[in-house]
Amino acid sequence: MTDHATAYLDALPRERYEEVCANLRDEGSTFASTKLRIADPDLSRRQGYEIVEALSERLGVVSNCSKCHGSVARLRDGYGYGPLCDDCAARTAVWECPGCGSTIDGYVERAGDTCRSCEARPEWEALPQEVRDEIGAMVDAGRGVLSIYRLMELDGHTRRSIDYMRMVSYRMSLRDGLGRGWRLSVEL
Ligand SMILES: [Zn+2]
Ligand SMILES: [Zn+2]
Repeated sequence: MTDHATAYLDALPRERYEEVCANLRDEGSTFASTKLRIADPDLSRRQGYEIVEALSERLGVVSNCSKCHGSVARLRDGYGYGPLCDDCAARTAVWECPGCGSTIDGYVERAGDTCRSCEARPEWEALPQEVRDEIGAMVDAGRGVLSIYRLMELDGHTRRSIDYMRMVSYRMSLRDGLGRGWRLSVEL
């Protein structure tokens, strides 16, 4: 139990504390930490989980794994996305995409690989210039979702939807700068 987490819990008004306990008991650690962070946006994701973990220990509630939702999970060093069970901890890695610098939460076998958006770069670059211009203008105008449909249309629906999403996501990362593209869930 970390000191800041204990101090945070002790500083909560009684009523609020009871509410957090109920969230944890009834809905589990992910829900409880999400609720904490909605109420207090200054908390980082990791801090939210640390507070909930401290409370779990105090109440004798077992934390659920944030990946497989199985029980008996705990926070791991270097992993800020929630408690992990032993199995998931052994299979999970966090690294920076060498292409765009975004943080990837993925499987150890893929550690060091580029993100899915960056993988779409060659496909994007192989599109005709006029298609890239039109889609690029839509992305720059903040019409990213519509641009996915437009790209499907222009390309004749010849690929999977996810391929179009990745190409647009890659184009968004060019607009937003390094590591700040619209990050699709990594394991898509
Ligand atoms: Zn798990
Ligand atoms: Zn990337």
